[in-house]
Amino acid sequence: MSAPTARPRSGAKPALASDAKTCAICGKPRDQRYDPFCSKRCADVDLHRWLKGSYVIPGGESSQTQRDSEDEE
Ligand SMILES: [Zn+2]
Repeated sequence: MSAPTARPRSGAKPALASDAKTCAICGKPRDQRYDPFCSKRCADVDLHRWLKGSYVIPGGESSQTQRDSEDEE
């Protein structure tokens, strides 16, 4: 006999929050695995950006790190 009361309208979460869970690279919905990115690809992109911006390799070796992003899990 206990009818469920109507949900309180107050306290409704904002549909469009400022902290949208979107990829920082392409803007797609994030994936928990690769948070805050949507995929390893985007995570890799950001990583490379970071590395390029931070790592300054003196001398200049012609051997670049070969990293194929084929290992998808
Ligand atoms: Zn992405």
